[in-house]
Amino acid sequence: MIAFISDVHSNLAALEAVLADIHAVGGSDARIWCLGDTVGYAAQPAECLDLVLDRCEVVLAGNHDLAVSGDDRASEDVVPGLFDGGPGAGIALARQVLGSERIARMQSLEPSALLDNVELHHGSDRDPIWEYVRTAETATAHLRAQQRELGAVGHTHMPLLWELPAAAEVASGGLMPAGSSILLERGTARVFNPGSVGQPRDRDPRAAWASLEGGVLTFRRVDYDIAAAQASIRAAGLPTETADRLELGW
Ligand code: ZN
Repeated sequence: MIAFISDVHSNLAALEAVLADIHAVGGSDARIWCLGDTVGYAAQPAECLDLVLDRCEVVLAGNHDLAVSGDDRASEDVVPGLFDGGPGAGIALARQVLGSERIARMQSLEPSALLDNVELHHGSDRDPIWEYVRTAETATAHLRAQQRELGAVGHTHMPLLWELPAAAEVASGGLMPAGSSILLERGTARVFNPGSVGQPRDRDPRAAWASLEGGVLTFRRVDYDIAAAQASIRAAGLPTETADRLELGW
């Protein structure tokens, strides 16, 4: 089994719940691929980064990771206001607590990878760092550029699946409900997003991940201790909105 996780965003309680669920579903041989944004927003970037680097076979860099590690592709020049508000506070906290060794490891991560013939990006293939694949239009553009039949992306914090059969003009798809499964028969280009571990934005506050086994892709959700995550965010002095949104799933 391959487990896809993304957008952990320093939420240790959610990450631990997802890792336990991956173990329960796929056993100790489960391979875990992380699509980026391990840090940012919440209060435990160091703990999350250590666990992700230790457990995952591939770890992409997301826009927040790149901002924390000082990459030119995620700077104020590229995105004015990047270091303001909730995102800015999470980036500043991560820079304070990660230490130079972790930052150096983060600087070696890239926003795209190709593994087992699956194309992986944090954002999209047109813009691996910043583009959101969340509409039929962006999914169509992504799938026309995608070099492999199957791709996986993060960044939107929503569990999504889009497909573009050879004869189709426009991609179809959208949000994938908890527990939904699809058999990936050959001949159709697809891209999916497993949803977010640490800050879901589809109005379902449970942590999200996806499994791929025997050609079947399954979108999964797991409860975690949201109150504990919120308490750690408040204790760290981060914006209250960063804590409040977790129970809304938005
Ligand atoms: Zn994110």
